[in-house]
Amino acid sequence: MALVVQKFGGTSVADPEKILAAARKAIRAQQDGKQVVVVVSAMGHNTDHLVDLAAQVSDSPPAREMDMLLSTGEQVSVALMAMAVHSLGYQAVSLTGAQMGIQTDSSFTKARIRSISAERINRLLADGNIVIAAGFQGIDEDLNITTLGRGGSDTTAVALAAVLHADACEIHTDVDGVYTTDPRQLPEARQLSQISYDEMLELASLGAGVMHNRSIEFAKKYDVPIHVRSSFSDTKGTLICGSSESKTAPVCGAAMTKNEARITIQGVPDKPGSSSTIFKLMAEKKITVDMIVQNIGQQDRADISFTVPKEELSKAAKVVATAVEQVGAAGFTQDDEVSKISVVGLGMAEQTGVAQQMFRSLADAGINIQMITTSEIKISVLVERAQALAALRAVHQTFSLHQRPADAAEWDEIPERKASQADIDKLVTDLRKADMEQLSLSEISLSDDQARVTLLGVPDSPGLAASVFEAVAQAGIFVDMIVQSYDGFQGETGISFSIPRSQFQAAQKVAEELQKQFEVKRVLCSQDIAKLSVSGIGLRSHTSVAIGMFEVLAAENINVEMINTSELRVNVVVKSAAGRQALVCMQKKFSENLV
Ligand code: ASP
Ligand code: MG
Repeated sequence: MALVVQKFGGTSVADPEKILAAARKAIRAQQDGKQVVVVVSAMGHNTDHLVDLAAQVSDSPPAREMDMLLSTGEQVSVALMAMAVHSLGYQAVSLTGAQMGIQTDSSFTKARIRSISAERINRLLADGNIVIAAGFQGIDEDLNITTLGRGGSDTTAVALAAVLHADACEIHTDVDGVYTTDPRQLPEARQLSQISYDEMLELASLGAGVMHNRSIEFAKKYDVPIHVRSSFSDTKGTLICGSSESKTAPVCGAAMTKNEARITIQGVPDKPGSSSTIFKLMAEKKITVDMIVQNIGQQDRADISFTVPKEELSKAAKVVATAVEQVGAAGFTQDDEVSKISVVGLGMAEQTGVAQQMFRSLADAGINIQMITTSEIKISVLVERAQALAALRAVHQTFSLHQRPADAAEWDEIPERKASQADIDKLVTDLRKADMEQLSLSEISLSDDQARVTLLGVPDSPGLAASVFEAVAQAGIFVDMIVQSYDGFQGETGISFSIPRSQFQAAQKVAEELQKQFEVKRVLCSQDIAKLSVSGIGLRSHTSVAIGMFEVLAAENINVEMINTSELRVNVVVKSAAGRQALVCMQKKFSENLV
């Protein structure tokens, strides 16, 4: 029998009328012949109110008690929802996280699901009930109530859909789907008909606000199609599945992470172990590090820049001060007036010129790029916050995101899950043994057929990156990884990019021409590089991956020359001679996580 999981977020159950409307939706799905599990969040801003209440009695409420408190929000909604279904003449049973057997670890306020036992839910469904499940909560080994982190009901919904072999997971929310960018920021944003898991994962982690990023990790891992749709109408929303909306468009969405802060550690001794020490200290203090950039150093010193959420800057700065001493760096600078603008799209992995087009649009809008990092399917730049909205608009415009691509996919039915019943059964059994949210890495790879071009001391002004990558594209050179570091060790901006080694000579020539044209102080080209990449799901919620990579390299006495991170991949560049050795050690380090 078909089974659907329907999740209703806070705004969709904000008052009694809305709860009744949601109950009617669930009943309609049951009348369509489906078994229905409804996952609900706390009503309206209830969770915020509870957080607020806690703050009024304590400056630092114990995390365990926070979870005890926050979980009550969902308990209210499930009970009311079950009553609503009853009042409409149908059967429903509400369950808390503990009652439905959602086992988590004990990291209060951000617990991870370990296992879910489907038996009780299945029994209730078989008896004709609509099961109303409390989102966001679980229980640890000692029967303590835990919560999954803000926005965690999405994760509950997708995890239940995975375990119950649901045909789909519907996310009913106050927007009618996933947009090319946040429509509250840009009214010209367009609703996507579908989007791939990887794209959604990058966008969600960039704060696209539609879904909790961990829920997308689950969906990808267990191949659960997600239908994001309006809770106030029955119109078709956006399907999150295995493929993108368009096969030809390079970019499917853009995002602005408004409140970022940048830290640059200057003059870090360019030797094994430095990055490992720095980021371990940050992790110990639980600081969320994003957008790590390390460019090629000079005179045995390199700069490492990274961003943190603006509100964590003061805490981060204290840790960085310690790190500076420990590694013997020259010092650090900080700026809390920056925002990150990113574009995401599976298509860019196969097309050239995407970065250049983004940089040109920013240059034409008079916007200076402070930092650049790229991954296979994402390009992020750091800009001054005052220009962030203009930057978002410029990139949205240049990739015509407001227009539906001519080859946009249309869907009528939720696609069948690719995993066979047997595959899913096996997964569910495995889940009982292992941690459901365990980091799963898809690949650890070495590419040693690349070369690197570095321009040091480039003028820090709008249009520079655009001109550089236009010239490179014109010469027919395929650019892989781009790193632009913040004002370098001696107050110099550096741009590095990697290219196929076969194009080394051509790239060198372009670099020399650029040097003449733009007062670039130094051009450093090298064929002596090896790039190591670790990719997979969960890199964002497992910062340990980047740290693990740095640790392995430090232990092997291998120097990290360049770093570049994204949600789905961490890249580091080392000397060619060390490539193999680094690969073998990383494979050993992460062997348990490889799937
Ligand atoms: N009520 C929780 C929150 O506001 C969980 C959720 O809504 O997903 O974060
Ligand atoms: Mg929510």
